[in-house]
Amino acid sequence: MDTRASLVCATVGVSVHGSEDRAAVNGSEKDVCEDCGCDVWVSPSGRAMQAEHGAILRCIGCTTSFVTQHSGSVELANVTQAQIKEIEDAFRRALL
Ligand SMILES: [Zn+2]
Repeated sequence: MDTRASLVCATVGVSVHGSEDRAAVNGSEKDVCEDCGCDVWVSPSGRAMQAEHGAILRCIGCTTSFVTQHSGSVELANVTQAQIKEIEDAFRRALL
């Protein structure tokens, strides 16, 4: 089992309320899921976690498969303050 941290990423092309832009927070960049190769969004805080912890990028589908395959041995990290700020900013942007 790969014990590196995983960063769960939204898949590029997924529409939220009719807009692909709403699936990614401000400043997100496109990258690829390291398991299946699909295009994913990586937020600025996610990019920092990737650099700091060597986290690998996984799309939501591959994360679900990984967690299912390794049930009982996967630890979930708390959402960081930087992630909360990005999500709040995205909500504010959606309300404008
Ligand atoms: Zn994937």
